[in-house]
Amino acid sequence: MHDDVVGALEGAHAHALGWLASLDTRAVPAREVAAQVADRLGRELPDGPTDPRDVVELLATASEPGLVAIPSGRFFGFVIGGTHPAALAADWLTSAWDQNAGLRFLTPAATAMEDIAEAWVVDLLGLPPGCAVGFVTGGTMANFTGLAAGRDTVLARAGWDVAERGLVGSPGVRVLVGEERHDSVDLVLRYLGLGAPETVAADDQGRIDVAALRRALEEGGDRPTVVSLQAGNVHSGAFDPMAEAIEVAHAHGAWVHVDGAFGLFAAASPAYRHLIAGFEAADSWATDAHKTLNVPYDCGLVIVKDPVALRTSMSMHGEYLIRDAAGDPFEKVPELSRRNRGATVWAVLRSLGRRGVAELIERLAGHARTFADGIAAIDGAHVLNDVVYTQVCASFGDDATTVDVVARMLADGTAWTTGSRWRDRAVLRVSVSNWSTTDDDVARTMTALRAAVAAAREVDPAR
Ligand SMILES: *Cc1c(COP(=O)(O)O)cnc(C)c1O
Repeated sequence: MHDDVVGALEGAHAHALGWLASLDTRAVPAREVAAQVADRLGRELPDGPTDPRDVVELLATASEPGLVAIPSGRFFGFVIGGTHPAALAADWLTSAWDQNAGLRFLTPAATAMEDIAEAWVVDLLGLPPGCAVGFVTGGTMANFTGLAAGRDTVLARAGWDVAERGLVGSPGVRVLVGEERHDSVDLVLRYLGLGAPETVAADDQGRIDVAALRRALEEGGDRPTVVSLQAGNVHSGAFDPMAEAIEVAHAHGAWVHVDGAFGLFAAASPAYRHLIAGFEAADSWATDAHKTLNVPYDCGLVIVKDPVALRTSMSMHGEYLIRDAAGDPFEKVPELSRRNRGATVWAVLRSLGRRGVAELIERLAGHARTFADGIAAIDGAHVLNDVVYTQVCASFGDDATTVDVVARMLADGTAWTTGSRWRDRAVLRVSVSNWSTTDDDVARTMTALRAAVAAAREVDPAR
């Protein structure tokens, strides 16, 4: 083996361990902005070669001040998971193996991991056996893929073949979404040539209003229709009423997709499965492995009940590809060549086991509950959502005070929480998505939060 390989990987190994060891004590936010890191990395393209070992060294040291401790147990921003050790190590191997995971005959090991991970995910979620799972880059592409299968299926039922004829001149597809669906759904509808969705009213937790959905469906006659539901609202953590909404949508012949980027795995916990009860009646589902399952970026999962519908939308029939009767991984995703994403999913599931996945969900939601109770105990603070899952949205008085508290949390650096707006109010949002978060991480974050609120009040005692 070439010396460069050993040197470069040993350098990367040492820096990776150093980074992970720093997580417990370092400030969560970065110390430098992108332009500063770029200066340190050097903007000039060198004329000649550099030893790979030196490149790794430069990369690691120049980047360090610009890294955010996202894998830390005190990162509660956006909805971002950490990295489970089994998945992280599997990800290193994935790069070393460099398998192009599209074809069964070309990459038997990669395909085996995906086959097994597919069956395990379907089993853990309690979905019907035989559902197909595609390994994509994230929730957005999982939504894209599931909604593509839906678009093509409802148009095929209306006698229109999208693959052959495109969308111009087609009967069109109506897409209905709840008012508080994730913006990525609108984005992928643009990719799919479907334009903006029609929105249906949601309740005070952001759950789609089933009576309003029924009215909208009735008004639409029997046009080809897709309904996209949500399992896990980023602000409230709430789940659309799955059973009722799916029943109404199916009664009108619609394809039902579920965006469960971080909520779908509630189904794997006996204690939280009630939140999503009835979701198995849908036609397609999207989830992220890089959120709740805590695999490294990037990995999302699209699940489609009818494997033929998925294959019809995603397969490519190039003559030079040796097709396999068992089906090839590339037939379930938009990409042709791609990373072997099954390895990390297989590894985290193999390591956690069925009970470990359930316990992970229960721990995340349990920490969210602790946050909610801690925040509610702060004078003048309000938890604005029903904390049913992993998300907590809080206000600390008027909007200016809440915005100030968010800024002080970030400046303090103990933890990362997100400032957002929800239902016309400034909020501080806590998303518990990291496998490694401990009771102590929650306690340290609450101490920082109480101090931030006290400091914000000191500036203006009227708050
Ligand atoms: C994160 C998220 C997405 C988008 O997923 P990406 O992995 O960022 O592409 C979609 N829907 C919901 C509800 C999400 O939380």
